[in-house]
Amino acid sequence: MTEAATKIVLSESEMPRRWYNIMADLPSPPPAVLHPGTLQPVGPDDLAPLFPMALIEQEVTQERYVPIPDEVLDVYRLWRPSPLFRAHRLERALGTPARIYYKYEGVSPAGSHKPNTAVPQAYYNAAAGIRRLTTETGAGQWGTALAFASAQFGLECEIWQVRASYDQKPYRKVMIETFGGTIHPSPSDLTAAGRAILAKDPASPGSLGIAISEAVEVAAQHPDTNYALGSVLNHVLLHQTIIGEEALLQLAKAGDVPDVIVGCTGGGSNFAGLAFPFLREKLAGTMSPTIRAVEPASCPSLTKGVYAYDFGDTAGMTPLMKMHTLGHDFIPDPIHAGGLRYHGMAPLISHVYELGLIEAVAKTQRECFEAGVRFARTEGIIPAPEPTHALAACIEEALRCKETGEPKVILTALCGHGHLDLAAYGAFLSGGLADHELSDEALAAAVATLPQVSG
Ligand SMILES: *Cc1c(COP(=O)(O)O)cnc(C)c1O
Repeated sequence: MTEAATKIVLSESEMPRRWYNIMADLPSPPPAVLHPGTLQPVGPDDLAPLFPMALIEQEVTQERYVPIPDEVLDVYRLWRPSPLFRAHRLERALGTPARIYYKYEGVSPAGSHKPNTAVPQAYYNAAAGIRRLTTETGAGQWGTALAFASAQFGLECEIWQVRASYDQKPYRKVMIETFGGTIHPSPSDLTAAGRAILAKDPASPGSLGIAISEAVEVAAQHPDTNYALGSVLNHVLLHQTIIGEEALLQLAKAGDVPDVIVGCTGGGSNFAGLAFPFLREKLAGTMSPTIRAVEPASCPSLTKGVYAYDFGDTAGMTPLMKMHTLGHDFIPDPIHAGGLRYHGMAPLISHVYELGLIEAVAKTQRECFEAGVRFARTEGIIPAPEPTHALAACIEEALRCKETGEPKVILTALCGHGHLDLAAYGAFLSGGLADHELSDEALAAAVATLPQVSG
C-alpha cells in the first residue's frame, strides 16, 4: 500500500493569478461603513487621506475576482505557492481516523501569512506616489511583513508596536529594523492619541486599538504618508484568499474534500483567506464543509462580543464598522497570542457569522499551547501562538472522529511559525502560563462605551 503524500506542492506556474472577492457571492451585502461625524456611508474621498485609490476600490468592489498585478506575483514567488501538508504523524499520535491537512504560511519572509497583503499594499501605495507607510503591530508579525514589503518597493515604514508585545518579543524589533523599518512602542509620546493614554496610565500595556490611533494620526497629517492595516478590512481579506485558492488546488491533487475547516481569528484575515474560497464552493453547492473560527477566551469578539457599529481604533478616528466587538476601549489580558488581541472582528467575517455560514468557538491559552507542543513533537514545526488556537480545535475535532469512527477531512491554516515566540513556549513548559477568560462584568464594562448608532 502506498502512503498518501505528506507534502502537496504546486509549481510556480500553478499559482493562482487572482484574488477572490466573497462580496460577489453573499446572499446579502454587509452593512455600510459609516463616517464617524455624519453617520452617513463613507465615500472614496473620506478614505483618500489614508489609502491609495486602488485599495479603496478593492474595499468596495463587487467583482468576483481581482487580478494580482505582475509586480506582486513576482514578490509572491519568493515563497509562494506555500505547501499543504498532510499531518500523518499528528493523526497517528492521536489515533484518529480523521485526515488532517495544514496549509503552512510560515515559509514567508515574515514567518506568517501577513506578507500576502503587505506586498500588494506596498505595491499600490508606491504606484500612487506615496513615500512612507505607517502602521500598528501586535505580536510584530504585521510590522515585519510591512517592513519587508516596503523595502521591496522603496517605501519608508514607521510602526507602532503594542507595548506588551514590544517588551515580550524583542527580536521582532530587530527584524523590522533589519528590513529598514522604524519602530516605536505604543502608547508613545509621539502622537496626541498616545499622549492621552499615557496621561491616564503611564504603564499602559497598549492595545492594537491604541497603536492604530497613533499610526492613523501620523498618516492623516502628512500627504506623502499613508496608513496600512494588516487585517479586518475587505481588501486585506481579499489579498489573503490566495491561501484558500492554493489549498483548493492542493486538496484536489490529494483527492480530498474538506468536511471541517478551522482557523484562528484575530481580525479574521488568515481565516478568511483560507475559508472564503471554500465558502464560495459551499454557496455554489459543490462541497459543504463546516467552517469554524477559533478565538482566544480572553478576547472573544465572535462568541461573546456584540454585533454593533464600533470604531476600529481606541481614539475613535476610524470610520464606524458594523462588527462583532468587545468595544474599542477594550484592553485584553496580555496573552501570548498577540495577534489575536483585537477588540473587533472583520466586518465581512462578522456578517457571514450573522448569516450562519460559519461557526465560532473560544479556547483558553494553556489548551492551545498544549496543542502547539503536541504539533511540534509530531509534525516538527513550532507554531506561532495564534494558530495553536486552530490546532487545539483541530485536535478536538480529530478526537471526536476517534470516538465516532468518522474519517473526516480537516483543513487548517498554520498561519505562522513560533520561532520568535519561544519565550511564550518557555513560560508554558515551565508551568508559568495562566488561563484568562473574559468575565461577564468585564464584558459589560467593555461594551458600555460603544458609540450610539441606530441600525
Ligand atoms: C496577525 C496574525 C494573526 C491574527 O490576524 P488575522 O487577521 O486574524 O489572521 C494570526 N496568526 C498570525 C501568525 C498572525 O501573524
